[in-house]
Amino acid sequence: MKESELALLKELLATPKKIVIIPHKNPDGDAMGSTLALYQYLIKIGHTANVVTPNDYPKFLKWLPFENTVIKYDLQNKKAVRHIKEAELIFTLDFNALSRVAEMEPALQKAKAQFIMIDHHQQPDDYAVVTYSDTSVCATCQMVYHTFEMLNATDLVDADMATCLYTGIMTDTGSFRFRSTTATTHRVIADLIEKGADNAFIHEKIYDANNFSRLQLLGTALTNLHRLEEFKAAYITLSQEELDAHNYQKGDTEGFVNYGLSLEHTVLALIFIENKKEGIIKISLRSKGDFSVNLMAREHFEGGGHNNAAGGKSDRSLEETVAYFISILPQYKDALNE
Ligand code: 5GP
Ligand code: MN
Repeated sequence: MKESELALLKELLATPKKIVIIPHKNPDGDAMGSTLALYQYLIKIGHTANVVTPNDYPKFLKWLPFENTVIKYDLQNKKAVRHIKEAELIFTLDFNALSRVAEMEPALQKAKAQFIMIDHHQQPDDYAVVTYSDTSVCATCQMVYHTFEMLNATDLVDADMATCLYTGIMTDTGSFRFRSTTATTHRVIADLIEKGADNAFIHEKIYDANNFSRLQLLGTALTNLHRLEEFKAAYITLSQEELDAHNYQKGDTEGFVNYGLSLEHTVLALIFIENKKEGIIKISLRSKGDFSVNLMAREHFEGGGHNNAAGGKSDRSLEETVAYFISILPQYKDALNE
């Protein structure tokens, strides 16, 4: 964070304010962990704060401390709109462009509040008075901890806050294995454990919460795994029918795409998931090494993200989307075989 922005942030937080904290649509562990940790901090220092999410989040996050205080814009629209309207400050966490809140964007465009962004995605938009963006950091949760360090507030981090931050760092680093995991990440994690984050408990809550139908859905996804050896690529498809047959719940497909990437010699993996209600195919992209799926998602799938993990969508049918993906691969052949 720039010195001038840190000074402004301190000034904005010096007097009690009405504050709203917002993660991206379909919030993940990092989005929920970071917003809930910041929420607890702001309450502790005397602000009125609320986390407002664009929509619901997966069941495997519904144990995080204070998640029961979260207001969901799609389900509790009036309440959410009122809070956004009355807010003096709005923190946007774990996203880089207001379009990432989808249906909630008009409400944010109308808001009179000043915006503060804390985020690690590439190419951040310019809508905030404080833009703390660092694409080298593995998780927004780590950046929230650095924010507490800059505010000399780490003493206020208690076990509940540490639990939230640990969760987001763990989920965004694939349990501390992605390239973005640094010595600093491990130092922050060590601090969080000392402050009361129960690492074994958190891993169990997130990763050992499968029900039978989700594991069966994984079986279907693995049956649908295709290899494109020429391009060191792999992809998985899941149709709406297949999701319905396995009683699909939000979050059930989390991590499936990584199975494609775990195939030896694979550099690029995608999963295409049909969403009949929204009329789209939701796409997750993953890569190893220097191949940027952020660029591929931006250029071809109306999305973005990070170098090695990105997302996007397509308005075509599932079959057409896969065919389109296969048709663009030759232009990446050299990069994929480097
Ligand atoms: P996931 O595939 O796990 O949903 O997302 C991977 C990464 O890409 C995350 O950092 C997420 O925020 C980002 N991402 C996912 N979907 C989209 C999208 O539609 N647009 C953009 N810009 N980023 C996305
Ligand atoms: Mn994140």
